[in-house]
Amino acid sequence: MAGHTPMMEQYLQIKANYKDAFLFFRLGDFYEMFFDDAVHAARELEITLTKRDGGKQDPIPMCGVPYHSAENYIKNLIDKGYKVAICEQVEDPKAAKGVVKREVIQLITPGTVMENNMLEERDNNYIASLSYFPDGSYVIAYNDLSIGETNVALIANGWNAVVHELYNQPVREMVISSELPKALQDELKEKLNITLSFQDQNTFNRDYQDLCSGLDDDRLVQACSRLFNYIQETQKRSLDHLQPATEIKLDHYLSLDMFSKRNLELTETILKKGKHGSLLWVLDQTVTAMGSRMLKKWLDRPLLNKWEIEQRLDIVEGFLTDFMERDTLRETLKSIYDLERLAGRIAYGNVNARDLIQLKQSLAQIPDLKQILSQFNDDGINTLNNNLQYPEQLFSILDASLADDPPVSITEGSIIKDGYHEKLDTYREASINGKQWIAELEQKEKKETGIKSLKVGFNRVFGYYIEVTKANLHLLPEDRYERRQTLTNAERFITPELKEKEELILEAEEKSVQLEYDLFNEIREQVKAHIPSIQFLAEIVSQIDVLQGFATVSETNRYTRPVFSQNRLSISKGRHPVVEQVMKSDSFVPNDILLDNETEILLITGPNMSGKSTYMRQLALTVIMGQIGCYVPCDEAELILFDQIFTRIGAADDLVSGQSTFMVEMLEANHAITNATENSLILLDEIGRGTSTYDGMALAQAIVEHIHDHIGAKTVFSTHYHELTTLEDTLDKLKNIHVRAEEYEGNVVFLHQVNEGAADQSYGIHVAKLADLPTPLIDRANTILDHLENNEEKLPDDSGQLSFFANESKRMEPKSNADEPESIIVTDLKNINLLEMTPLDAMNELYRLQQKA
Ligand code: ADP
Repeated sequence: MAGHTPMMEQYLQIKANYKDAFLFFRLGDFYEMFFDDAVHAARELEITLTKRDGGKQDPIPMCGVPYHSAENYIKNLIDKGYKVAICEQVEDPKAAKGVVKREVIQLITPGTVMENNMLEERDNNYIASLSYFPDGSYVIAYNDLSIGETNVALIANGWNAVVHELYNQPVREMVISSELPKALQDELKEKLNITLSFQDQNTFNRDYQDLCSGLDDDRLVQACSRLFNYIQETQKRSLDHLQPATEIKLDHYLSLDMFSKRNLELTETILKKGKHGSLLWVLDQTVTAMGSRMLKKWLDRPLLNKWEIEQRLDIVEGFLTDFMERDTLRETLKSIYDLERLAGRIAYGNVNARDLIQLKQSLAQIPDLKQILSQFNDDGINTLNNNLQYPEQLFSILDASLADDPPVSITEGSIIKDGYHEKLDTYREASINGKQWIAELEQKEKKETGIKSLKVGFNRVFGYYIEVTKANLHLLPEDRYERRQTLTNAERFITPELKEKEELILEAEEKSVQLEYDLFNEIREQVKAHIPSIQFLAEIVSQIDVLQGFATVSETNRYTRPVFSQNRLSISKGRHPVVEQVMKSDSFVPNDILLDNETEILLITGPNMSGKSTYMRQLALTVIMGQIGCYVPCDEAELILFDQIFTRIGAADDLVSGQSTFMVEMLEANHAITNATENSLILLDEIGRGTSTYDGMALAQAIVEHIHDHIGAKTVFSTHYHELTTLEDTLDKLKNIHVRAEEYEGNVVFLHQVNEGAADQSYGIHVAKLADLPTPLIDRANTILDHLENNEEKLPDDSGQLSFFANESKRMEPKSNADEPESIIVTDLKNINLLEMTPLDAMNELYRLQQKA
């Protein structure tokens, strides 16, 4: 540090404690950044990088943002996953000896933001902690500071399960021990895009005894302790506002591995990473942000408990009975603000009067809401309604005390209603009377002095005054007027009565502003006592919202209520909830499916593009919809409560990601077969296509046999290896089905219809035809195919077939001329080993040949 100015030394000392954050160092009206921070921030925020004289040292890179617009810059950095330490002057510069004292007053991090504009309305914002234990188990503690909620989950089965659990969770920041192996840290950072923070201390502290009181496993307490230690230390926050931690028992929920969450596009699509086109997009008919957040949680953890599922379905059924009433219900819900986050902010102590007015307005809806719910006359809804408690006392407090349209600031008055507090009313009256007196003063003085231009005014420095132009000064009587201020053309005076009134008014105003502030704090404290009931209310309102949303979407899209059975899954006229919406028209072809004790595995064949993976996905989505308590897209459904769903479904981005498709396939297949039980659902789409025919086919067969003999999970398996259909003869619980495609005038027509038995043809060439390859080339390919299928030794004479080359260009003569050397295209065609090709390979090959022609 030698050679730096005292201020830079102060900067460097503070910065040393915040190495992983941008240090916003307050200098006058700016937050400045220096050194690497400055270089980095200038790039990220697209602001100008300048230099500051470094004294004896090199110039120091510097950049800054104005104090008043800092919020947007901070948001920008937080959104990108960075942390920002706000360093303020903590003493009056005038009183300072030497450099003004500065301290970091807040560390803003992605997981700890509370500001509404930095939070996603319809998503949670988690800061989590991860702890690991010698027995190989891990614990994740999730916390959403904006609502004060903490959940802890124990993961007994190793690191991979941690990644699967975290995938798709809105975790912005993760507190870990610095001893967590680097490779795992990298995985969290890169694969899951989580900002890492470190806290080695995971010992329990009495401050959060209450928060951990419900946890009976020491590992859970340790993970929570790590999290709370971090929040306490870095955020300089008390933890009073947090609710006690609750354990999430992962085995109480349908578990979806990372691949399934991704492949099934539950909450976001793979390619665009957006909600549009996901299952959430179709199902989210909620009208409140709280409801939307709850739906996302439900989708992330479908239920296993039949009773709980039926309870949700009962309510959906209830809501379906009255369309008009449901519409009224939706309108009423729309007027309810985000109670969950309001409760969070009340608990944390940073609500203003406007927030409390929002709370009041929301509470005012509850009696209406109860009235509407009672109209349904349904048992399930009545139970929900009974849980919906109108906190009348809280409403009265707010209604009696708060002005209807208070300002944002709580230090400038105008928050409290007249009539709420006697003393306040007296101050206000005094101020009003005083002002009234002053308003009348001008007329009175004009009359008494005869000065028409006399004015009474007010300014902040000199207070009230009587202003007389210099030309009229001689008209003023001598005695009463005391000079206050001299202007170029006028003098300002005060009189003893005016002074007296002024003091009265100022005192009354000062006192009333102070009193209002005190009263507001009192009200805030009173409201605090009601936090648990607000939170409970928020919970019930969210449930109502999600379930009315299920009813709404079920009615609009014609879904039906599923029933659940032990071991029989039967869906009649099932549809894909998202594809049918995207197609808009009525052209989606519904299909049946049956899996039971006799049929555990369905092997599905059919040409590319016929609808195999759509069929498999729609099964998984239907199962998930059923297990979150929603109606399902079909005419009739008997479903099994699955414990886990595994999918290996060819995703569009396999092609883009660059990772070997085959490797991805094998990883996902391996994950499925090592974790699945007989109560699981496995969907494997085209396993083995990433490698050569025999390799892939052998692996595919081995996998099917393994599932059949050792796991017994319900499985749907699609393949283009026609040879695998003979497995039906050896595996008694495997059944062939196929997606029908028909030939019509030499073209393939996809019927998207699933039928029993195996498909009979490969349609690669028909697909090529759809892709508009030249007719003669297609004809020739058909001839070759015929030949191969008939196992003829020699290719038929192709002279006629190839004449199209002659027609289209003069480069080739008909092959009948024996002297002519064989074209490269023909040589290539002859060398193609169709048996070793997938339909896609065939397409590519045809395309290559076409380029040569
Ligand atoms: P495959 O897996 O057999 O290659 P996909 O399932 O990807 O085929 O389906 C190809 C396309 O066919 C889809 O994009 C979809 O638009 C359409 N499709 C699939 N199933 C149906 C259906 N049941 N009804 C209507 N169109 C469908």
